[in-house]
Amino acid sequence: MSIFHAEKCMKCMKTQMGGFRGIYEGELDEANWGKKYPLCDAKHQSPIDIQRKKVMYSKEMSLFEFEGYEGPLHGHFKVTNNGHSVQIELPSTMKIKKGLPHVYTAVQMHLHWGGLDLETSGSEHTIDGMRYMAELHIVHYNSDLYSSFDEAKDKPEGLAVLAFLYEDGHFENTYYSEVISKLAKIRYAGQMTEIKALNPLAMLSENLENFYRYQGSLTTPPCTENVLWTVFDSKVILSENQIKQLENTLLDWHNNTLRNDYRHAQPLNDRVVLSSFQTKLKAEGCQHEISTKLSLIETELQDVKKRVLSISSLGASAVPSYPLFYFSKKHPASYVEVQLSKPLQLTQFTLCTWIKTKPEGIQKVFSYSTTDSENELVLSVGSDLKLWIGGSLVDFNIHHTSEDWVHYCVRWDATMGRTELFVSGLQGKEKTVKKGYSVKPGGVALLAKDRFDLIGLYNNSFFGRLSHLHLWSHLLNAEEIMSLSKCQTSNLKGDIISWGETTMTVAGGVILEPDNSCW
Ligand SMILES: [Zn+2]
Repeated sequence: MSIFHAEKCMKCMKTQMGGFRGIYEGELDEANWGKKYPLCDAKHQSPIDIQRKKVMYSKEMSLFEFEGYEGPLHGHFKVTNNGHSVQIELPSTMKIKKGLPHVYTAVQMHLHWGGLDLETSGSEHTIDGMRYMAELHIVHYNSDLYSSFDEAKDKPEGLAVLAFLYEDGHFENTYYSEVISKLAKIRYAGQMTEIKALNPLAMLSENLENFYRYQGSLTTPPCTENVLWTVFDSKVILSENQIKQLENTLLDWHNNTLRNDYRHAQPLNDRVVLSSFQTKLKAEGCQHEISTKLSLIETELQDVKKRVLSISSLGASAVPSYPLFYFSKKHPASYVEVQLSKPLQLTQFTLCTWIKTKPEGIQKVFSYSTTDSENELVLSVGSDLKLWIGGSLVDFNIHHTSEDWVHYCVRWDATMGRTELFVSGLQGKEKTVKKGYSVKPGGVALLAKDRFDLIGLYNNSFFGRLSHLHLWSHLLNAEEIMSLSKCQTSNLKGDIISWGETTMTVAGGVILEPDNSCW
């Protein structure tokens, strides 16, 4: 996306005749942007290549609800050739009411395209390395937190962009006809015209339910990293002729045909791309076990320095050699997704795990969240031990200082709401929470992150080693818990999560180490 202002461009136009050259980065090749705008070399830049096999499906992302998008809208909508793109000003009545963490108000939309002989496609985002014909960006600012685009543009959580990719087809897309026909009127950079009717919703792809989400930046200087990106999976079709007009009509500030108006893909680094849907790749038969092994191989490659167990020993039959998971601060994006063997609908449970970490912060070891409840069943360690059930917090007020392995169990029974904590097999505090409640099914279970941490905040990530995490849908008795903490039993396995048997998908550079939790 670019955030060139119409005012700025008008200024340029005035001086253009006198030999004005370039706006600001105009003279700089994108590889050199960072010299003048250091943020352009930062770690969370846009666009990116969306690699579908690395995308993390999140059932929890809510669908979009738009207000004021449905047309035809009548008015005077400015259309500008800003020397980099064609930009259409949007009315502030266009808002994203739901689907993002805040309400966002539309500002403008613009296009990125290609057109050079050898490289005809021009989208900024690519999917599995594939560049599409062109890309539409609809720029919004966070109107919950800020009063205008200018205020929001360089602030945290300031912007959200909806991105749509274009493909060519045989039929004219009539919702683009007026905009494209006006291009001839704004051939020179800085020129402006207007259209009187606009139907924004109709200009988008039909399927607005399938999309990718990640945290990124402006794709032009100053490359501010405050953009929540949504890239829709289904493509908008324009006719070949429409695309040709787009590629051949506008001129830049040097009166060269405006082409290849996109920034190349930036490294993903520690970010995770979420998807609102199961990408085809997975549905096409990458069974969980296979994807687990692929992820493991990937992790192994990433961590060549580390001793990694043989992949072939990771089958269910090889439980004794199942590795522990090490979530290193060097890999802040690391997490594990747990494929629950049955729906989690609990009126009692016991959750036990071995943990080795530093006693600091709120580190979410296990998080289970549903659409309605971020903290449906969550256990955190760190400076304190906390448990959430149905969104309610139980704070056990224990300040553990050990940096060695510790065995924790929590159990809860809805009948009286009784909640108990066991540390190293010893029964500790007892609290009451959520009497009569039932933990809801249909959520996502993660180790070392909660689902909001996946978009790159990492405020509540777990860093350290984790092993033998089990979840039962009933109460273990004190003797059973004691024997687990003394490593005296290998037969007590969770019926919902069973360590070494439940399929787990590792991501983001989780390090696998031989399990020494019970040594
Ligand atoms: Zn853009």
